[in-house]
Amino acid sequence: MKSYLVVGGCGFLGRYIVEALLARGEKKVHIFDIRKSFEDDRVTFHIGDIRKLEDLERACKGIDTVFHTASPTHGMGYDLYYSVNVTGTEMLVKACQNSGVAQLVYTSSSSVVFNGADIVNGDETLPYVGQHLDPYNKTKELGERAVLDVATNDPNSKLAVCAIRPAGIFGPRDVQGWPQFLIAAKEGKNKFMFGTGKNLCDWTYIDNVVHGHLLAADKMVPGSKINGQAYFITNDEPIPF
Ligand code: NAD
Repeated sequence: MKSYLVVGGCGFLGRYIVEALLARGEKKVHIFDIRKSFEDDRVTFHIGDIRKLEDLERACKGIDTVFHTASPTHGMGYDLYYSVNVTGTEMLVKACQNSGVAQLVYTSSSSVVFNGADIVNGDETLPYVGQHLDPYNKTKELGERAVLDVATNDPNSKLAVCAIRPAGIFGPRDVQGWPQFLIAAKEGKNKFMFGTGKNLCDWTYIDNVVHGHLLAADKMVPGSKINGQAYFITNDEPIPF
């Protein structure tokens, strides 16, 4: 039976990945996070900072598969995003390599290819953009590169890697996305409309995002084409676990 570490496992997406692993009977489930947001006796919690190699190496010991979902919340400055999303991700790659982890699945974002211009039916052939809209988007790209470079630099690396790129994620227990839009609407703050009001934005249900992560980890066996790839995730029918 494989052992799993969910970095950022006390967050919205990370906790759902943890719960999906437990629901399918996994017995070796660990969380690494800077805070503890819930209790579960079936999970081993490691409280630490992704920017500290020694914290990460302690948590990565004996782990087969790492899901990396940690990131600062929305609206922060470049320095914090850079230190967590780029330096922290580089540290995690190093900790995985030093600890003999076999798989690293990075939660990226569709924003790595978005510069404000419309994208319709985009796919993974879209290049990174030269100019990002904000520091979050930029540092998600740099973090993704740090992960995928493992495969580019050494296709035979013992650590297999891939990136999952959701756009917006929605579902129960979210506190950042739709709940914030609703609060703003209730407070009468949504007074401006950009464009025709028919702009589209991609939102993916949490179960589908989790399913994408688990599929990546399950299928990323040695020699598989998944190693080094990035995948957009979008909605089909929600899949119950
Ligand atoms: P979240 O804020 O709910 O969870 C992130 C977790 O990371 C938190 O539990 C937080 O404590 C932890 N964390 C932050 N800094 C840390 C540090 N220095 N060390 C250790 N842990 C740290 O966020 P979420 O909505 O679950 O997003 C998860 C991932 O998905 C992120 O990487 C985000 O960029 C990506 N993503 C989210 C959305 C969305 O709509 N929520 C969309 C696209 C991509």
